Amino acid sequence: MGQNNNLSFENTEIAFKHSSNTDLKRAYWLFRVINVNFLVKIGPPITNFAIKIGLPIKGLIKATIFKHFCGGETIRECEKTIQSLHEGNVGTILDYSIEGEDDEQVFDNTRDEILRTIRRAAKDKSIPITVFKITGVGRFSLLEKLDAKTSLTDEEQAEWKKVQDRVFAICEKAFASGIPVMIDAEETWIQNTIDQLALDMMHQFNKEKAIVYNTYQLYRHDKLASLKADHKVAAKEGFILGAKLVRGAYMEKERKRAEEKGYPSPIQPDKQSADRDYDAALDYSTDHINQVAFVAGTHNEDSCRLLAELLDKKGIDHKNAHVYFSQLLGMSDNLSFNLANARYNVAKYVPYGPIKAVLPYLFRRAQENTAIAGQMSRELSLIVKEVKRRRLIK
Ligand SMILES: Cc1cc2nc3c(=O)[nH]c(=O)nc-3n(C[C@H](O)[C@H](O)[C@H](O)COP(=O)(O)OP(=O)(O)OC[C@H]3O[C@@H](n4cnc5c(N)ncnc54)[C@H](O)[C@@H]3O)c2cc1C
Repeated sequence: MGQNNNLSFENTEIAFKHSSNTDLKRAYWLFRVINVNFLVKIGPPITNFAIKIGLPIKGLIKATIFKHFCGGETIRECEKTIQSLHEGNVGTILDYSIEGEDDEQVFDNTRDEILRTIRRAAKDKSIPITVFKITGVGRFSLLEKLDAKTSLTDEEQAEWKKVQDRVFAICEKAFASGIPVMIDAEETWIQNTIDQLALDMMHQFNKEKAIVYNTYQLYRHDKLASLKADHKVAAKEGFILGAKLVRGAYMEKERKRAEEKGYPSPIQPDKQSADRDYDAALDYSTDHINQVAFVAGTHNEDSCRLLAELLDKKGIDHKNAHVYFSQLLGMSDNLSFNLANARYNVAKYVPYGPIKAVLPYLFRRAQENTAIAGQMSRELSLIVKEVKRRRLIK
């Protein structure tokens, strides 16, 4: 069992070891641009417009922001990134990032692509976990209807059956390959349906090993309780609960909708409450490590430090397969690589897909890394530190 006494998130030499000087300089300029609030605001509409009227800007996007945050357009194009992360003992989670589609053929294609990620993961140890979104394989408004318990037409019933079949095919393949698959969490008004489907899949496939993981958004005030309730069900019915723990990505949208429709917001009253429940979920999951397998999807340094300490305090081996740290490609390498260096299990989401399809993802990353109150973003300050250490700038 390892000790984390020397765990430091400030070591930029370890954090950026896998980045060449050219990579680092590109990241430096990219994050300097992203740091400017005004550019991040005007960037998305200008980019969307330019693509719409056919300006040849895909090459520029591919060489800059896409190259930093995505692995490539296909699995094959991601191989270099997979290898580079693997050399730093960091696993890859291939994330096929198609968003907002509404077409049965696209849903079938996405299912097939997720099956390919599982097949690729089964080949070697560089991809320990896989992931997908239910809205990648089913229509959002159908899920919304199910969540609201509105009765479905015969046609919609048949459509829903197809969604369930796609999810089953993915989980069954994951089971047969011995590769865990996580189901992302989305908006609250479709999440009950996702939760139910995920629990059904766990019931079928998690008897011996954690294969299916659902996602718990701890920025919701009810989700710590759900985690505990689901664990009780799992313990009673004899399966392992798979849980990805995140704070949650749709706060503003959730609050706005609740206000517009006049129902109480499902989101915690403040950041502190979200942090408190997130850390409580880490504590709870480590307390039940044999029955709860979990992935801590977070860029929060305090939560990562806390989890590292909890593992050591509770005598849980760093390499216990039931616990993973996870960050996104191109972000918080100071956490990922320093944790991996201290022998903790770490895997990064590596988004991939056609450039146009991943644009919303890229805009969100830009938004997240822009300056707050005129300060340099955390990511930029780390890059500046390493760029200076290598004497690439004065
Ligand atoms: C590997 C990985 C997988 C992910 N998967 C998903 C997923 O499936 N579904 C999903 O929704 N998100 C997902 N996310 C995104 C995640 O939910 C967070 O939005 C993001 O990681 C930022 O939170 P943080 O824990 O890194 O840390 P921090 O930067 O410390 O926290 C920021 C987060 O805190 C919460 N917050 C901020 N202000 C307030 C406030 N005033 N009141 C209440 N809460 C507040 C919000 O959730 C905000 O995103 C994932 C993230 C990672 C790294």
